[in-house]
Order: sequence, then C-alpha cells, then structure tokens
Amino acid sequence: MTTIGFIGLGIMGAPMAANLVRAGFEVTGFDLDQTAVDALVAAGGKGAASAPEAAAGAEIVATMVPADPQVRAVVAELADVLRPGTLFVDFSTVCPQTSQWVAETLQDKGVRVLDAPVSGGQQGAVDAVLSIMVGGEPDDFAAALPVFEAVGRTVARVGPHGAGQVVKAANQLVVGGTYGLVAEAIVLMEAAGVDATAGLDVLAGGLAGSRILELKRRGMLARDFRPGFRIDLHHKDMGIVLDAARQAEVALPLAYQVATLVQAARSQGRGGDDHSALLAVAEGLSGR
Ligand code: NAD
Repeated sequence: MTTIGFIGLGIMGAPMAANLVRAGFEVTGFDLDQTAVDALVAAGGKGAASAPEAAAGAEIVATMVPADPQVRAVVAELADVLRPGTLFVDFSTVCPQTSQWVAETLQDKGVRVLDAPVSGGQQGAVDAVLSIMVGGEPDDFAAALPVFEAVGRTVARVGPHGAGQVVKAANQLVVGGTYGLVAEAIVLMEAAGVDATAGLDVLAGGLAGSRILELKRRGMLARDFRPGFRIDLHHKDMGIVLDAARQAEVALPLAYQVATLVQAARSQGRGGDDHSALLAVAEGLSGR
C-alpha cells in the first residue's frame, strides 16, 4: 500500500486526504488544528503530531496549506526528513517562483517535486472531481497519477516546475472575473425589477452558463457567503496573477479590475467570506 503524508487538512485538504484513504492509500495527516487531524483519523487515516512525523517514511508527501509562507515553512521543516526518491506534491496555490524554489531546494536532496494546484472548490474536493494543473518532470507526473486520479477528474501536466501555478493563476482570473460579472448581472436584474432567480436559471442554460452559475447562483441569491473559498485567498491569488502578468510583460486590464473588486471586499471586512461575496461589493457600488 502506498504511504502518503498529507500536511494541511483544511477546507480542501480534509476531503482530499479522506478520498485518498477511500482509494486505498495509507494516509498520515498533520494540521496545526488538532480537530482536523482527528477528523482524518475518524475517516480511516492516521494522525501525526508534526509535519516531519507525517512525512517520515512516506513515499509521497502532499501539502495543501494556505499560501507561500506556509509552503516555505513546511518545506524548511521537511528538508532533512524526506528521503531521496520521495515524491513531494504541493497542491497549494502559490506563486510560480515559490514552486521553483521548492523544486530547487528539495531536488538537491534527491526528492522529486511537483506543483499541483487544483480547481473545483470544496464540493469538487468532496466529490473527487478536481481539475489539477501540474508542473514538473513527466516521469514524476506519471508516478503521481494514481494520487491525482483519486482526488481529481481532469488532470494535466502543463509544463516544468511552476507551470501549474501559472495555469492556476489563469484559472483564478477567470473565476474572479466570472463572479464579478454574475454579481453585476444580479444587481442589474434586481434593480430593474426582474425575477433574478428565473433570470439566472435561463442564463445558466445558455452561452453565459458556467460552473459558477451552476453551483453558486442559489447561494448568491440567498446572500449565503459562508466559505467555500475565502476572499482572503482570492486576494492572494490575484496578487499572483498581477505578478505573473508583470513577469510575462503582458497587459491585462481586466485582471486589475478583478483584483480591485476582491480588494474592496477585503477592505469592507469580507476577507473571511466566500468569494461569491463580490455580490456585496457590486451592490455597494450602486447603493443597494
Ligand atoms: P484552509 O485555510 O481551509 O486550509 C489550510 C489548512 O492548512 C488549515 O487547516 C491550516 O491549519 C493548515 N496549515 C497552515 N499552516 C500549516 C502548517 N505549517 N502545517 C500544517 N498545517 C498548516 O484553506 P483551503 O481553502 O483548504 O485552501 C488551501 C489551499 O488550496 C490554498 O492555497 C487555496 O488557495 C487553495 N484552493 C482552495 C480552494 C477552495 O475552494 N477553498 C480551491 C482551490 C484551491
């Protein structure tokens, strides 16, 4: 049985680790939050008291932590624990340079590294239907495929180390922009006295349809902004988008608009809300 050390058992990591257990992997998990570790044990995994304990002896080590500082901290903790040949898969969304740093740091020790950020949200993690965009060596991608197939449905190697993060940045641009536009559509329909529920239903069935309209329109209309995916994390991701655009020397005016909307949500105290709370920002702009 393949052994996996899984570090970071939050909104995404918890269901991913549970799905790996269900798929027959031996999973030892660690999170700073002990209740998350207890939940993995209840799901049939093992608990560890630290990241090095979770990683010790594992053939594959996976991380799903919030952002760059946490990935760098975990890698620094594990650098002397991971054995040569171990496959280190970072599912977190971070900037491409952090993924490249992880690869350089761990490859020196003979560890194989992939950046594998995901899309599909909490429900996609629960249902094991995530999209996974992978950067790294083809052989390492092939070795990790059974893990990816246990948590995801659409899986692609998109290039060398860091490439997965560039694709994830593109994903977050589209997701943020879509939320912003759906929010404006709701504001428009409601202000004009139109039935927005019926309106969004018909939009969802036409060319304007999207996974966001499919999965989130009811919650948005109910102003249910429980996360899901927190505005704070989307703010981090829009920073990655804008940095990547600068590095690539491309002009992305809409990316700046999306980043500003996300910033506004954060500035209005909605950092802990779901990113569908861009609706509250759009309403505020019109005094609604
Ligand atoms: P989360 O905050 O719910 O989970 C992160 C977990 O990591 C927390 O339980 C936290 O305690 C733990 N953690 C932090 N530092 C740690 C450390 N040093 N050692 C061990 N555990 C540590 O966040 P999330 O929503 O699960 O997101 C995780 C990553 O996935 C982020 O990079 C996010 O951008 C990305 N992502 C999230 C979603 C989503 O819908 N929530 C979707 C796709 C990608």
